[in-house]
Amino acid sequence: MEEYIVSARKYRPTSFDAVVGQNALTTTLKNAIASGKLAHAYLFCGPRGVGKTTCARIFAKTINCLHPLPNHEACNQCESCMAFNEQRSLNIHELDAASNNSVDDIRQLIEQVHIPPQVGKYKVFIIDEVHMLSTAAFNAFLKTLEEPPAHVIFILATTEKHKLLPTILSRCQIYDFNRMSPQNTVEHLKSVAEKEGIRYETEALNIIAQKADGGMRDALSIFDQVASYTQGNITYEKTIENLNVLDYEYYFKLTDHFLKNEVAPCMLLFNEILEHGFEGSHFIAGLASHFRDLMICKDPSTLSLLEVNGNVRNRYQEQAKKCNEKFLYKAIKLCNDCDLNYRISKNRRLLVEITLIQLAQLTEDDDVSSGRSPELTLKPIFQTAGTQSPAVTQRVTQNQSDKHPTQQNTNTSVPTENKQQAYAHQPADATTKLRNPLPSQETEITKIPTIKKGTFGPSIKRSFTEPEQSMATKNTIGQTTSDKNTAFEKRTDFDDEDYLVTEKDICFYWHEFANLLPQEETAMAKRMKIIQPRLLHDETFEVVVDNDQVKAYMQQIAPRIQSHMRKQLHNRKITMEVRVAENNEKTRIYSKPELFVAMAKKNPNLLKLKEAFGLELT
Ligand SMILES: [Zn+2]
Repeated sequence: MEEYIVSARKYRPTSFDAVVGQNALTTTLKNAIASGKLAHAYLFCGPRGVGKTTCARIFAKTINCLHPLPNHEACNQCESCMAFNEQRSLNIHELDAASNNSVDDIRQLIEQVHIPPQVGKYKVFIIDEVHMLSTAAFNAFLKTLEEPPAHVIFILATTEKHKLLPTILSRCQIYDFNRMSPQNTVEHLKSVAEKEGIRYETEALNIIAQKADGGMRDALSIFDQVASYTQGNITYEKTIENLNVLDYEYYFKLTDHFLKNEVAPCMLLFNEILEHGFEGSHFIAGLASHFRDLMICKDPSTLSLLEVNGNVRNRYQEQAKKCNEKFLYKAIKLCNDCDLNYRISKNRRLLVEITLIQLAQLTEDDDVSSGRSPELTLKPIFQTAGTQSPAVTQRVTQNQSDKHPTQQNTNTSVPTENKQQAYAHQPADATTKLRNPLPSQETEITKIPTIKKGTFGPSIKRSFTEPEQSMATKNTIGQTTSDKNTAFEKRTDFDDEDYLVTEKDICFYWHEFANLLPQEETAMAKRMKIIQPRLLHDETFEVVVDNDQVKAYMQQIAPRIQSHMRKQLHNRKITMEVRVAENNEKTRIYSKPELFVAMAKKNPNLLKLKEAFGLELT
């Protein structure tokens, strides 16, 4: 029997041109080789399985090739190239710092550095996962890294650039590797499948690409796994079964029901999904990206962002035609709120179900729910015959709908006076926002206070100021109707008020902003992600940076960050301050032990706890 080689190894690229999805980078490397301007140390950063080590090996082979081709690729025929391809070249040394991170390992490597190459011009030392080197090993290495002999080139590779000391970073030419786009991955998988004589459905390869999340090595491993499971015929159905992926068929069906305002079938489908063993959070995230994909289909200019191919693409376009944009925006918002609240929710299933009900009611009487953001209101699913006109909108708090499913209907029939008392009995909870709670005397329409997004979203509304709060309490022990009116009218003003912000919110939207930055600002995005903004007081947050240059740049984009924060957090006063770190002050958190030290500074009891139990940090 023929020896089985995994696809990731069998189809490992052997020339720069064969490297998938890193064109800009391989071109730069080729140009450097062509012009003979080689640095003595390179740092390859990027997620796992995107070609860092592969590129390092190709680079080593190419600079040692005795007869390079006119396109500056290695010839693959000369003695040096053959040695490389047969993995017997003495000009390449690979050290995996994840398992060899001691000073001795580095000393051995340094000894090798001083021996000149026998064949070819350069000795290349590849240190993988370089961030794993111990501090002592780093120190032993620094001097050699700074002034290596002329025949030596170091290529350091890491998935976690932020863990590297600035002293290392400043000595290297840095290359950032991209995640693979799903299109690139799918195309590559197709070519592998064709070479291997494996039949496939494009949708199945899409699923594999999604599951691999930008890593080609992972994609190929999953591909091997699925190919063996499906015995060489990779169908969509078998693939989702093997990878335990939720069928997108559910999302198409659900969206159709939402558009027809049918609640019951949505509940049944959700139940089916849970019975298949899927997590609610997984489902709701999938639903959100389904809506996102539909939204992208609405506009030809964003169509290229749709990461699926083939038939599914057409189905997305068809369903997108049926949804209006307002529905999609609101639906995405609802799913996102549900996702944010999922972890803290005590009744997760109910949370998802409420979201499904709200989704199914989005297209009902569009005119009622106009406004910037979706109103999180629940309307009765079951109408009691004859008691109410369709124009009446029932708004209930989550608790009410939860505990007293019938109370909402009885409320409509209580006389006005009692109703007003009912409002007064609503808890003046800081998280509950009342919106036009009291009907004006002329209108007959009954409205019950509703829970607004403050409760669902990450922010909460500023709590009532003291005097207002006491007033609200007084109302419960009975005052004249007109007094109550003014109290509630005051509360309606809160619509224009700013939401309270927390440091967690700031950090969340800080990362979100970084992720939204366009490709040409990737460097900035990466820098932002390792910075932890701190909330100074109510609306001001502070960003501590390494030097004046970064500070200037931060200040330049500060207005954009501020406006993003203000919009997302519904607070018009959020202000960002930038400051250069003082001596010994860290701008980022490096590791868990350091995090512990930082926490212990705030609360010394932690240290006592650690000592009392003899705990050790790993
Ligand atoms: Zn060659």
